[in-house]
Amino acid sequence: MKQHTSYGDPARFVTHIHVAQDCLDLPYTQEIIARAKLPVTVVPERGVPAIAGEYPFNLTAGKHHLLLCRNRGTFFKPCPGTREYRCCDYQVLNIGMNCPMDCVYCILQAYLNNPWLSFFVNIEDLFHELDQGLDSEPDRFFRIGTGEFTDSLAIDSLTNLSSRLVEYMAKRPNAVLELKSKSVNIENLEGLDHRGRTLVAWSLNSGPIMEREEIRTATLEERLAAAKQCAQWGYRLAFHFDPIIYHEGWEEGYKATIDRLFQVVPAESIAWISLGALRYLPPLKQIAADRFPASRFFYEEFIDGLDGKRRYFRGQRVEMYKVILERLRLYAHPRTCMYFCMENDTIWREVFGFAPEEYGGIPAMLDRSVGWEPKSPT
Ligand code: SF4
Repeated sequence: MKQHTSYGDPARFVTHIHVAQDCLDLPYTQEIIARAKLPVTVVPERGVPAIAGEYPFNLTAGKHHLLLCRNRGTFFKPCPGTREYRCCDYQVLNIGMNCPMDCVYCILQAYLNNPWLSFFVNIEDLFHELDQGLDSEPDRFFRIGTGEFTDSLAIDSLTNLSSRLVEYMAKRPNAVLELKSKSVNIENLEGLDHRGRTLVAWSLNSGPIMEREEIRTATLEERLAAAKQCAQWGYRLAFHFDPIIYHEGWEEGYKATIDRLFQVVPAESIAWISLGALRYLPPLKQIAADRFPASRFFYEEFIDGLDGKRRYFRGQRVEMYKVILERLRLYAHPRTCMYFCMENDTIWREVFGFAPEEYGGIPAMLDRSVGWEPKSPT
């Protein structure tokens, strides 16, 4: 398979650090500044970096700028799934916003108000909130991810948040953390006593999509080599075929990626694999057209979903899911949980042959794949 050239660490794209005045003296801020060796500008408390250009064109320039600031909202909250589709009951740990990579389909382009990257340095508050959340329901199992509003590892060479999170999670019996990335910044994960409480996950796609539509991301071979390395360090893995995109040669493209995945990565190390066809907020099409005029995949036919997002017609989604699932089932370990991110029971039955409720629901299916069995009522 043809591979795009390796970009290396996407954190290299960050060329300037801005620090909110009220965070300047925090030891963690000083640690990041010392490690980054980049020019630093102090902005007033609640101030913002000055980025030239109009939205959405300033999104590219914005990715050169990293603002270290305080999270004034909540760190830990449920993933905003919608009632209309089956979701997996995931908890989001909000470590920052935006990312130095640049995927044409990235929903953050339509979602965030700011073009720059933000990273929250008041991590004592983050851990305090986690303590409160996890202690408040000791019999509940939490699957937590940091990859909702950013990429979990994209700037980890600057922040080294991952090792702190892994060490924290190792002490928590009722939760796992999923670090989801399109980078291969795994150096900080080596040698940690993770006790199986952290999973490392990669988004995968058909070769042409990774090559053309995911700028500054790691190549397929890099992602798989990093996954294999993490498996050797004892981490469980996860993979996300999301967004599945219709394009010329999609069938061969997805099959080739799946074949390669199981050639490189041990099947028994994979806890879960999700599938999700492209869905997007309507304004994203124009933003992507302005920023990436050569991209064509938004010009297929879509319908408006019940959640306000556009998605492929049902027949097309089912066709793509069936091809991908059939290939995955050739190799996948029986304990690996395969599931849809945001689909309805009709699609589940058509593709998987069952509805999640028959197995206790998606959350229970995922919890079991990492060894958690809910206590039976007494
Ligand atoms: S890696 Fe994720 S967060 Fe970063 S641009 Fe791509 S989709 Fe967006």
